[in-house]
Amino acid sequence: MLQEIAPHQYHPEYMPDAAPRDGDLVCVFEGRGVLLRGDRYPTVAELRALGVTDDQLVYLFRIDDVAFYLLWEVTDTVREGLDQAPVDACRRMADPYMPLAGATALHLYRWYRSHRFCGCCGAPTAHDPKERAMKCTSCGALAFPTVFPAIVVAIRNGDRIVLTKYADRETPRYALIAGFIEVGETVEDTVRREAMEEVGLRIKNIRYHGNQPWGFSSNLMIGFWADVDGDDTITMDRHELKEAVWMERENVPATPGAHDLTHTMMELFRLGLDPKD
Ligand SMILES: [Zn+2]
Repeated sequence: MLQEIAPHQYHPEYMPDAAPRDGDLVCVFEGRGVLLRGDRYPTVAELRALGVTDDQLVYLFRIDDVAFYLLWEVTDTVREGLDQAPVDACRRMADPYMPLAGATALHLYRWYRSHRFCGCCGAPTAHDPKERAMKCTSCGALAFPTVFPAIVVAIRNGDRIVLTKYADRETPRYALIAGFIEVGETVEDTVRREAMEEVGLRIKNIRYHGNQPWGFSSNLMIGFWADVDGDDTITMDRHELKEAVWMERENVPATPGAHDLTHTMMELFRLGLDPKD
């Protein structure tokens, strides 16, 4: 999965005083795109050659000894000196930890861009010197990075599993039931509520599987296995889904080496490696 990068190590600690080195990497996002050098993130040295100064680079994180920075403002010179690609290009990079780097950088980029002004009083914010936070220059309110937790649940009935397709995607792949945790709700209650809302099924034996940071949509995904409880008739939520079916184990589409939790769990089920008791 995306976050499984061993033997490499992700270091999220905030180090705003770390001086950018020539070989460090810079994530340059603009709208829904990313600016690359060929098929990789440009280095600090390459951006310096395009007129970028260190004070335009925001420290993000480190993977092993390589620091990743965000370019705060994209100039025409930078735009012309790099290659434009959709952000999805970050998911397809061959180096094992680059997709995680891209997802995490994109998550932070979107958070930074949406916190340039204070949500309390509307004044501009500035980077807090000590913590990863944006601080209001007028009222002092602090905003910290936001993670949106969501659940994924694989609902089973023996050798069958509920697979769905989202209504709002043009070419949706099969997926599992998923949804955001509401304010004031336990994770298990979210799992039960989403199963009922999306496919009208009562479930039991809810069992934690694992979790995954998914920066492409600013989420933390939390995965569960469950079994149908009683009637297995699917009543589909037509606003959210265009298809919801019980699929036999051998008909589940193969997704070996999936980056995401949903398709990793589908693959475990297909191979009969889901927990049985
Ligand atoms: Zn304020």
